[in-house]
Amino acid sequence: MSEDCIFCRIARGEIPSATVYEDETVIAFDDLSPQAPVHTLVIPKMHHADLADNVSDAELAAIFAVVPKIAEAKGIAQSGYRVIVNNGEDARQTVKHLHVHVMGGAPMTHGMIDFADD
Ligand code: AMP
Ligand code: ZN
Repeated sequence: MSEDCIFCRIARGEIPSATVYEDETVIAFDDLSPQAPVHTLVIPKMHHADLADNVSDAELAAIFAVVPKIAEAKGIAQSGYRVIVNNGEDARQTVKHLHVHVMGGAPMTHGMIDFADD
């Protein structure tokens, strides 16, 4: 646990969130600034900065096992969704607590990424 990590604080219930799913390993909640009609984040409750930060196989399995459950709960299981991890600087990871974005609810473009000029 990290004292001032915002996602640790959500996992501890210190900051309110629109919780979609929770078990002993992971919690899923709606993104505060959604970039799609459905935009939910799945995080391990334990603090890991990113994918290289000692994430256990069990945690990775738990995170990804939850993704289709979220899709069902949000009504996008049939229409489809995109699953994104921004990992590190070039990917513009802003919250340094591993999280998986589950995004859907409308058709997306074919291109997955845009590169920045700066
Ligand atoms: P990333 O750029 O991959 O690090 O994504 C971080 C995401 O966390 C962004 O989409 C933010 O909108 C979202 N976010 C930041 N603070 C909160 C919060 N308190 N509750 C829910 N989502 C948040
Ligand atoms: Zn954290």
